[in-house]
Amino acid sequence: MELLEKKIQKDGIVKAGNVLKVDHFLNHQMDIALFNEMGKEFKRLFADRPVNKILTIEASGIGIACIAAQYFQVPVVFAKKAQSINIDGEVYSTKIESFTHKRVYDVIVSRKCLGPEDHILIIDDFLANGCAVNGLLELIESAGASVEGIGIVIEKGQQMGGKLLREKGYHVESLAIIEHMDEKTGEICFRH
Ligand code: 5GP
Repeated sequence: MELLEKKIQKDGIVKAGNVLKVDHFLNHQMDIALFNEMGKEFKRLFADRPVNKILTIEASGIGIACIAAQYFQVPVVFAKKAQSINIDGEVYSTKIESFTHKRVYDVIVSRKCLGPEDHILIIDDFLANGCAVNGLLELIESAGASVEGIGIVIEKGQQMGGKLLREKGYHVESLAIIEHMDEKTGEICFRH
């Protein structure tokens, strides 16, 4: 998506450890006009899928999932990072290792929010090693729901998450795929 690539080129900052900071328009301050175009694009990309719910993970996925949901006219469920492992049978749970924070979270979704009747589109801000998306897939599987697709804003193509998910047969669409980024020069190249 050209608009997004231009924004990443203009405002993205390449940090050490293969981290791209996009706090100015995606992860902290949010550019809603851009979100709106991204939501429209997700709808175009998954138009043929019978999506009845969008699933994301707190916190950064929530904004884009909500804007996209207006185009699909479906509710959004966000998986919560639980503070304690106080699992009481009312929730589906899994563990997700955070790429940026280097720690493992217990992640939960209430059984009331996800069930076998659901056809899920996963939406998240980044796809790197795929830990976040794989955790969400586990929650969907626990619920007996179906996966209709995976929509990602920025995929880091040098990491294996996207490749592995596509090999497993999932319909993954990323609005921008980074082929290469250089911490020293700040250069960012996209895959087309
Ligand atoms: P994964 O679980 O696929 O390894 O990483 C995806 C998650 O880590 C996303 O939910 C995102 O919050 C975070 N993440 C991964 N790489 C980056 C990055 O380069 N920049 C930012 N801001 N977040 C990232």
